[in-house]
Amino acid sequence: MIAGLTEFGISDHAPQIPEPFDDWRMAETDLPGYFHWIDRARTRAAGRIPVRAGLECDWLTGCGPWIADLASRYAWDYLIGSVHYLGDWDFDNPKWLGRWAESDVEAVWTHYWETYAKMADSGLFDILGHPDLVKKFSHIPVGDLDRFYEPVIDAIAASGSVIELNTAGWHKPCAEAYPAPRFLELACSAGIGLVISSDSHSPREVARDFPKAIALAKIAGYRETVLFEKRLRRAEPL
Ligand code: FE
Repeated sequence: MIAGLTEFGISDHAPQIPEPFDDWRMAETDLPGYFHWIDRARTRAAGRIPVRAGLECDWLTGCGPWIADLASRYAWDYLIGSVHYLGDWDFDNPKWLGRWAESDVEAVWTHYWETYAKMADSGLFDILGHPDLVKKFSHIPVGDLDRFYEPVIDAIAASGSVIELNTAGWHKPCAEAYPAPRFLELACSAGIGLVISSDSHSPREVARDFPKAIALAKIAGYRETVLFEKRLRRAEPL
């Protein structure tokens, strides 16, 4: 067992056309190297831990054909869909923090959640990543946030995709896992499946805060988590 895990998933940021798209993802020409890297990890971990192959894709308007193309290039275990972009703005990138200062937080949140619901409706992804990433820098509208959560919970439940409980948020200015406890509670009540992820960008972050995440999931009502193999899911007790 590695880091207390029974399975290990790799999911780098997917290439995005037209290239060059931005500076925080692999290029399309990096894909063969990525496949080789996954194969090598599988060989090294053989008999110790299964290595699952994934990709974190960006939900962008009109991305359907590109996602279908990426999906066809490898025997993926899972594809994650994430909203990092609102128009041309990757709002979670610290580089563009100044743009938050010029923005109406209520309007950004409305745009974000409408975009997230469209991503769920697309049915392209097994896992929907870091649901309330929009709170990363603690720009949070006043009042009851259920007005944002409820329509998107309905869309996710209808899509059959599962959501990610992502522990990285605890280490960002928002100091809270993605999604918020209330979102998690609504998701559980709606029967939406859950995966737990540390969104590791370095080896020492693997499985970071998993005991805390499991406790949070249980408080929200979850009793099981979901694992993927060749894009088929199975449940595992928490
Ligand atoms: Fe992400």
